[in-house]
Amino acid sequence: MSADVAIEECTDVYVRLECDLLVVRDSILTDRHHASNTNYEADDPQNQIGGIIPAFSLSGWLRHGMERVVQDRGGTACHPGEANANFRKEEVYERDLEDGYHPKGSCLEETDDGCVIFDLFGGFNAHPGKLMRRPIRFSPVRASVDYTRGQAEGHYRRLNRNVVSRNDADDREPLRNVELDAVANLDGCWHLSFREVKPAFLGLLCEAIGFLHDHRTDFRYQLGGARNFGAGVVYCELLNPLYEDDELTRVFDRARTPTDAMERKDDQWADDYRPAVVDALHERIDDHSNKDI
Ligand SMILES: [Zn+2]
Repeated sequence: MSADVAIEECTDVYVRLECDLLVVRDSILTDRHHASNTNYEADDPQNQIGGIIPAFSLSGWLRHGMERVVQDRGGTACHPGEANANFRKEEVYERDLEDGYHPKGSCLEETDDGCVIFDLFGGFNAHPGKLMRRPIRFSPVRASVDYTRGQAEGHYRRLNRNVVSRNDADDREPLRNVELDAVANLDGCWHLSFREVKPAFLGLLCEAIGFLHDHRTDFRYQLGGARNFGAGVVYCELLNPLYEDDELTRVFDRARTPTDAMERKDDQWADDYRPAVVDALHERIDDHSNKDI
């Protein structure tokens, strides 16, 4: 059964993300308009607000982990910024290029597909990238979360932070007010789709998710903002790509344990598939390094 699944058939994969507090500034889109109802109070805990976490921050976080995996193997990664972007911090960009990056797209001079990062994320108009990173739809009502569609349980709040006067005479007079959009208790699936599957892509995804999980409290690899306040510490895991939909859903059912079939698939993935895709990744990175890109 699952032993017959070809890696090229794994076009849709799911990463489980668990995060106590996620702050992505003002970019969380809620399904409730703040002025839609006179009874609506933004901070009422009874509010059942769902919404969308856009993929931009998630994508940058994943890409950063992937770049690091490539660099740790001795390769260089495509810089995320355009080579001719006229960076305000030119010297910082130059330093990046000496520290494990090559100018975006320069790898196309050696091969049609570029480096593995370019191949996944694309760069210029004719190269759209082969990895689609979808937004995550979240809901506070677990029963309405469809994990097979890349959804998550999560609780939205708009948080207020006040910077107050330090002078006794001012009696904590607010100097500045900052509103933050936050999602708490996030637990769900991030749906990633490969437009074309290559074993090295899955290898890089496996390695990067493992790296990001292990480095989840490292400031550079936390997700989004408010990092010094413990936000963006993400427990992440690539869910077994061999799982069927009902098995994927079962992962999130706290009342049920994995079936025998799921455990067999876990062994298959760990013993056969994963080593093969990681080998393919290493081969591709080494190949590029040898061409001195
Ligand atoms: Zn590149």
